[in-house]
Amino acid sequence: MSEKTIFKKIIDREIPSDIVYEDEISLAFKDVNPQAPVHILIIPKKEIESTNHLKDDDTALLGHIYTVVLPHLVEKFKLSDGYRLVTNCGNNGGQTVYHLHFHLLGGRFMSWPPG
Ligand code: AMP
Repeated sequence: MSEKTIFKKIIDREIPSDIVYEDEISLAFKDVNPQAPVHILIIPKKEIESTNHLKDDDTALLGHIYTVVLPHLVEKFKLSDGYRLVTNCGNNGGQTVYHLHFHLLGGRFMSWPPG
């Protein structure tokens, strides 16, 4: 069996994290190396490596993240003025943890293009 990712260890409470939201499908916690005043990682509890590994039956899971978890966090962290939701996929996308995650960044103006 392949080794657990750091995010799976967070789900399983094997390592500590600053959890800001949890339900049966998803977990959200603060990034340890924040790139903005608000930097939260939203992950599905289901182990999916990246957006390249999504299947047809993951549609509801993605909808849940966008329509339930995201609005909850936007309200909780007062991000109604805007934010950035980023998913890095694969080597060229800059992905370092191979458990699907969405970076929710806010609390400052986000420039474009990203680096
Ligand atoms: P990515 O480069 O898109 O795969 O993003 C991985 C993110 O996970 C980075 O922003 C890291 O700072 C963050 N990270 C790594 N380990 C932890 C941890 N133990 N708790 C919270 N965030 C973490």
